[in-house]
Amino acid sequence: MQDVLKVWVDHTRCVGNGFCVMTSEKVFVHNEDRQSEVIDPGADTPEKVLEAARNCPVSAIQVESAITGARLYP
Ligand code: SF4
Repeated sequence: MQDVLKVWVDHTRCVGNGFCVMTSEKVFVHNEDRQSEVIDPGADTPEKVLEAARNCPVSAIQVESAITGARLYP
């Protein structure tokens, strides 16, 4: 099934506090630099991904609709 969301992390912003990994460990993991990486944007519900994006203190998580390309966050 096609992913509903396109999700990526802006590494110029990410401070590696891990909030997103705690919110959805199926979607986000820490890389070797302790920054967040998206492993599978469809592995959790869109609501959970958007919750992780909203909880990021530096708005590093970028979310678009994979269907329409509309910006959903920030
Ligand atoms: S919540 Fe934001 S700053 Fe923290 S690890 Fe995730 S993307 Fe990086």
